[in-house]
Order: sequence, then structure tokens, then C-alpha cells
Amino acid sequence: MIPMVDLKKQYQLLKSEMDEQLQQVFDATQFILGPNVMAFEKEAAAYLKVKHALSCASGTDALHLALRAAGIKEGDEVITSTFTFIATAEAICYVGATPVFVDIDPKTFNLDPELVAQAITPRTRAIIPVHLFGQPANMPALMALAKQHKLITIEDCAQSFGAAVNGTMTGSFGIAGCHSFFPSKNLGCYGDGGMVTTDDDKLAADIRVLRNHGSQQRYHHDVIGYNSRLDEIQAAILRVKLRHIDTFNRERRRAAHTYSRLLAGSVITPFEDGIGNHVYHQYTVLTPKRDAIMQKLTAAQIANAIYYPIPLHRQKAFQHDYADISLPISEKVASECMSLPIYPELTDEQIGTIVNTIKSAL
Ligand SMILES: *Cc1c(COP(=O)(O)O)cnc(C)c1O
Repeated sequence: MIPMVDLKKQYQLLKSEMDEQLQQVFDATQFILGPNVMAFEKEAAAYLKVKHALSCASGTDALHLALRAAGIKEGDEVITSTFTFIATAEAICYVGATPVFVDIDPKTFNLDPELVAQAITPRTRAIIPVHLFGQPANMPALMALAKQHKLITIEDCAQSFGAAVNGTMTGSFGIAGCHSFFPSKNLGCYGDGGMVTTDDDKLAADIRVLRNHGSQQRYHHDVIGYNSRLDEIQAAILRVKLRHIDTFNRERRRAAHTYSRLLAGSVITPFEDGIGNHVYHQYTVLTPKRDAIMQKLTAAQIANAIYYPIPLHRQKAFQHDYADISLPISEKVASECMSLPIYPELTDEQIGTIVNTIKSAL
């Protein structure tokens, strides 16, 4: 049995460090906005080379808090990729704005800057590039567009913790970077968690207040905010894992490159553009023989999944507004993509078994 991600194996490897940190949290019994949260925010900001890191309850909340603090509201249009997890678009809807779905580059699966340019209207206020599967979006082109049209850029970094473009970390390009610590993400905690990164002092101050019931001083509420905080237990876990994130991402790249070498010619393997440091949250291939491959893998007890089977403009939740819109590249990719197990602890021997199973289906 080979899972998509092996959290048990990772815990066993980190157990002594992890158990010691957790015991300290239990002994201190300060569970909300305590010393581990403050320390984690400092350490994460230093790692990502940003001025501020504000933790919160999930990646979805990070997007919501960033959009609200950036002043995005009803009547505004926000451009994002149609080929992403629903949370990217949900957050846009939470602030009353309208998601405008744009098609992707068929090689990187990320927003195509030329199509973004065509989608800009007088009501466009922001762009949310998603660094899908750990592959950085084309930030040089998107940031240039944003500058030219005076748009706000908020990055969805839920799948790209540690990825960089020419050495600049994802999450440090736009006014805000939104991160998720869902357990299976590259940097994952043992529950839900998220974080906004920013160099903007005002945005940071506003998010700090919004995440804690609109309150700066206890029982004094300046605005209607939310209960959206990372807890001490999760922060302690993340501090341990942050020490290993470069190793985790290096091992993901090693696994991906082994796959790509062995699968070349059998399926379309992931593209690397040479300027971005892909951190392989997912290892996703394209093949017209998807059904046959998935059947063989499942029969051999090798996990496999489709990320994502339906682009957002085709989801029932958005059917009302997008029924007549066709975004052909995303539709084609959604019909041929499949993701294989990938995690730092995946061995070359396991990859060999997976590849042989795939080849037996072709
Ligand atoms: C996981 C994910 C999110 C949401 O993060 P949660 O922590 O699960 O709320 C947002 N966008 C993308 C692209 C994701 O993969």
C-alpha cells in the first residue's frame, strides 16, 4: 500500500522533537496566541523574507482576511485561475466580490498572463495567482500587469511553501501571500492552520485585529472581525517542521525528478520553467489513458487522485454565472490530469514500483 502522502512515516521520523515541543505546550497550558504562535510567526517571516507573518485558522481564512484587509468588496472583480481548489474563489465571494475565472498555461497549469490581461475591466481590483501543485506562477509577468493596471496582487501559496522565483519566495511578491498548513501541504500541521505574509505594515495591523474579533485591546472592538487564530499546539508542530522544510522540499524534488526520468515518453511529465523552484506539492501528469492507469494503480494498492476533475467555472456552485463560458485549456487538462503519490519520504524503490505499474497499463 502506497498512500498519496505518508504523514505517519514523517511523524515517526520527527517524533522525539515533536513530542518534546508538544509536552511543553501542555505543561504551559497557554493555548491561544501564546509564545509558540509569536515565535512561529517570526521564524516563518524570516524564512520567507517578509516583514510580517500573521497566522490564522486556515488557508481559506488567510485568503479571506487578506482580501478584506486589502479593501476588496462588493462590485469588485477579482481575477483568478479556474484550475484551482475552490477555496481561492470562495474567499473572493466571502467579501462580496466577483471571481473572474481565467484559463491556464497548459504546461505550468498556472494563470496565463496574456489571458489575464484580456480579462481586465474597469471593475477589476485584484489578481490572485495560485502557485498550483508547488509550481510558482509567472510572477514577473503578472506583477508587471498588476503594476500597469494598478491592481492588488494576493498570492495563493497554499501549495507552494518554500517555492521561489529567481530566489524570491512565493508569498513575497504581492501585497499578501496566503499560506495553508492543512496536514497534507508541504508545511502541514496536525489540524487546520493558515498564515498571511506581507511587507505592508497597515495590512499586517488590520489582519492582526481582524483575526481576533476586531480587537486590539481586550474587550475593545474596533471593527467586526473573526475568530481565526492558529493555536499553540499547531504552532509548536509547525516550528518543528519549519526546521526541516528545505529538506522536505528537496526530497519532493528528488522524487519528482526520479518519476520524470522514468516516465518520460509514457505520459506528459510536469514542466519546469527554469526560473521557478517547483516544490512539488503534487506530482501531476497528463495522459489520455488516465482511466486505465488509475485502475491498475488502485488494483496494486497505489493511491492516485485527480486534482482537479472540474474547473471552477464548471462547478455547480458557479453554474449560474458561468454557464456560457468555455475555458478550453483547463477543461482539457481536467480531463487528462492525474496525480501520483509524492512526499519527502517516498523512496526511489516505491517510485520504481509505481512507474512499472503505470507502464503495464499502457
Ligand atoms: C488547501 C488550499 C487552500 C485552502 O487551505 P485550507 O487551509 O484547507 O483552508 C486554498 N487554496 C489552495 C490552492 C489550496 O490547495
